[in-house]
Amino acid sequence: MEEELKPERIQEFKVGDCPICGGKGTLKVIQFIHKIPYFGEVMESTLICERCGYKSADIMILEEREPRLYEVKVEEEKDLFTRVVRSKSGTIELEELGIKIEPGPAAEGFVSNIEGVLERAKDVLLMARDFKEQENDEEAVKRIDELLNYIEEVKEGKKPLTVRIMDPFGNSALIGDKVKSRRLTKEEIKKLSTGPYIIIEPEESPQQ
Ligand SMILES: [Zn+2]
Repeated sequence: MEEELKPERIQEFKVGDCPICGGKGTLKVIQFIHKIPYFGEVMESTLICERCGYKSADIMILEEREPRLYEVKVEEEKDLFTRVVRSKSGTIELEELGIKIEPGPAAEGFVSNIEGVLERAKDVLLMARDFKEQENDEEAVKRIDELLNYIEEVKEGKKPLTVRIMDPFGNSALIGDKVKSRRLTKEEIKKLSTGPYIIIEPEESPQQ
């Protein structure tokens, strides 16, 4: 259910040595173009090492770009199919759940929908739950179970969820009838984490 349109594979080429295993010339890039109705073209690039299996994906919107915030309120099942384009520099907020997916070393770019984002959040919560259970942290396990229940209720259209995506480089978006969007303010851009590799204003960081 993730994709109704097959992305078009445009090219594949070797890029060099693997930063993880040191394999000589084992790193390649595969690029796809997603043509998204009423939005435009999105390029997905996946870096893969043929030797150790290292993989990293990112997304780039090929149309006009500016720092933007997109927001949608999920209230019924059909809202789950709102499309999500997320680049490595995009921050996703799931407001009622108190979950924020930020750029970081493990951040992946993807083209999916809100249902797909909820599945990803669920996987992360289940991993955290296992970990907290081993530590006998009953409070944390209880809190995680509440979040997992809330996700199920959102999927059944019983509970609302406000989903936001913000990207200082304009490479992320929500696409659907109910989506509202506006330009990010300078203040908002300053507060966003942009991941480990890109520093916009060195004198302002570190923020932690
Ligand atoms: Zn490798």
